[in-house]
Amino acid sequence: MASEDRELRGFSTRAIHAGQAPDPSTGAIMTPVYFTSTYVQAAPGDHQGYEYSRTGNPTRTALEENLAALEGGRHGLCFGSGLAATDAILKTMRSGDHIVACNDLYGGTFRIFRNVYEPFGIRSTFVDASDPANITAAMDESTRLIWIETPTNPLLNVADISAIVEAVRGRDVKVVVDNTFATPYLQQPLALGADLVVHSMTKYLGGHSDVVGGALITSDSEWAERLAYVQNAAGGVPGPMDCFLVLRGTKTLAVRMDRHEENARRVVGFLQEHPRVARVHYPGLESHPGHEIAARQMSGFGGMVSFVLVGEEEQDARDLVSRTRIFSLAESLGGVESLIEHPVSMTHGAIPREERLKAGLSDALIRLSVGIEDAEDLIEDLGQALDA
Ligand SMILES: *Cc1c(COP(=O)(O)O)cnc(C)c1O
Repeated sequence: MASEDRELRGFSTRAIHAGQAPDPSTGAIMTPVYFTSTYVQAAPGDHQGYEYSRTGNPTRTALEENLAALEGGRHGLCFGSGLAATDAILKTMRSGDHIVACNDLYGGTFRIFRNVYEPFGIRSTFVDASDPANITAAMDESTRLIWIETPTNPLLNVADISAIVEAVRGRDVKVVVDNTFATPYLQQPLALGADLVVHSMTKYLGGHSDVVGGALITSDSEWAERLAYVQNAAGGVPGPMDCFLVLRGTKTLAVRMDRHEENARRVVGFLQEHPRVARVHYPGLESHPGHEIAARQMSGFGGMVSFVLVGEEEQDARDLVSRTRIFSLAESLGGVESLIEHPVSMTHGAIPREERLKAGLSDALIRLSVGIEDAEDLIEDLGQALDA
């Protein structure tokens, strides 16, 4: 869809319509799930834009255009998982290239940087990105990529995207923002100067814990071309049914995010008052160190919350996450149902303890993905688990 259209339409209108014209052959209002691997050609090379479904599939195209419109970018590319999207970015790097990343990031992202790509000579340095000076201090001649998550997982730290873009301006580096936690409804990194947005569609974009997928969005046409080349050459693409499920998810993203946030605020208020809770991490709290930046670069604070129990005992945290009844003990986040987890033994187990503690990730940290159930039920559930 043309960029003029994008500017003219509100977020939810784009979510419901961008990339999704009624099917021209039948009028079907929903994008068909094109279960096909190949496309018939009238003569060699004479086709309707599709040749083979690794290269392109109409259901995937609809999702790619939809996500590009939501992030305000020109190009969208979808992958079989968030990490497959990350992998495609890394495949555009060369041996000797260097990455500076935030130190409080998704465990699997740390793992692919450190354990998969470092042996190929692509080094990464992890720094506290809440101060852009830490990023520039860690850069050297071979730095090609700045990798930011904001808010971060699981500490909800906030990085100032435009300040980081400004700090590295004029150098031959690209700024990548993992926008999984915020979603394009709350934060649009490309408008803040970032070069590329990465998503795990598995989370809020899908929104119903029924699909795994990833996406890249950029307005940098040259880089988009290289990434599309890798997408086709390496082949980490999603199937059409996965794309359909995410398209269904993005249609309700705005209303879900509003409810996630409303519930998260109620839960945060409850946790703050509870005598067993030592501290609560939520960017919507005025006491949160990144609150001012979050208020400036986001239009809301989202549905992710983490907290630490008084005493900071790992066993207390493990006991608590096993006692909730409505909050399910599970990895992942961003679905309509509430989840609770213990990052150190679950999502962030791949990060060595020393690195974790350096980043301020306590053994007793508990992470919540606050769902869209009734807030009173969620609070009652946490209350019974805390008081048991
Ligand atoms: C889940 C997640 C990823 C990885 O995505 P997958 O779809 O699980 O491969 C990357 N970044 C963040 C912030 C995530 O939460």
